[in-house]
Amino acid sequence: MPLVSMKEILRDARRDGYAIAAFNPVNYVSMKAMVRAAEELDAPVIIQTSVKTVVYWGHQTLANWMQELAGPSPVPVALHLDHCKDLSMIRKCIEYGWTSVMIDASSFRFEENLRLSKEVLEMATPVGVGVEAELGEIAGVEEEIKLADEDATLVKPDTAVEFCLQLGNQLAAFAPAIGTAHGVYKGQPEVAFDRLEEMYNRIDIPFALHGGTGLSEEIIQRCIKLGCSKVNISTQLKHVFVNGFLNYRTQHPKDYEPLKYIDAQYKALYSVFAGKIQQFGGGGKSRTTAEPGA
Ligand SMILES: [Zn+2]
Repeated sequence: MPLVSMKEILRDARRDGYAIAAFNPVNYVSMKAMVRAAEELDAPVIIQTSVKTVVYWGHQTLANWMQELAGPSPVPVALHLDHCKDLSMIRKCIEYGWTSVMIDASSFRFEENLRLSKEVLEMATPVGVGVEAELGEIAGVEEEIKLADEDATLVKPDTAVEFCLQLGNQLAAFAPAIGTAHGVYKGQPEVAFDRLEEMYNRIDIPFALHGGTGLSEEIIQRCIKLGCSKVNISTQLKHVFVNGFLNYRTQHPKDYEPLKYIDAQYKALYSVFAGKIQQFGGGGKSRTTAEPGA
């Protein structure tokens, strides 16, 4: 089916208490593994490109790959732009067929964050594109966002309610900083479950859980139950991507057939994607209310 907006599939996930896996691809092979794993499990999936990846390949190339993969696919696939501060980049992704975008103005003061998020909503909503916005600062290293852990500020539920309300409760996903971080955890992070629960009870919008790599099963499941309907996995995929190549090299030191390396990488990624989709409860959830007659 054509690429779908993240909004409908996330609403379904929030209502039914599961989460949709959101993966960051770096090339065609990783995108293909994401879509095929979702098909195998009959699951919706979110493919989210970092700004870096978009700059590297260009809008048209990524859009072509995604249309080729999602078009004939029976499962709903959303093409999402991850963390972006640049409104012209957001506008261009929308023009090229991204079905959802994240405005990350979380480093600005509340009013400025709100203003920019509103501007993106006004740009995206009329053309059926879903918007994710972030409040508080999610720690870690991702893109140009580099924050020391102590600088990360957790979201206050009252502020979160106000933020979502001021945006007309129109967000497809709301990303509150609740103590998770991008990158590799040194131990398990302290997730502010009390705040998350309060927000879950007061805000009827699916939450996006950033920094999903390395979270314990218990934390993931608790977050999903408290409304984190989108779980982002990026860092782990970078490791699997690189190790997929390296492991094949170690096992076959004399093999110089590139396609075998690519295939080894594809298989390594595929199995991680399938595992995450299953873990988050997305298996068998491909029928969305976004589909006519579903
Ligand atoms: Zn993130």
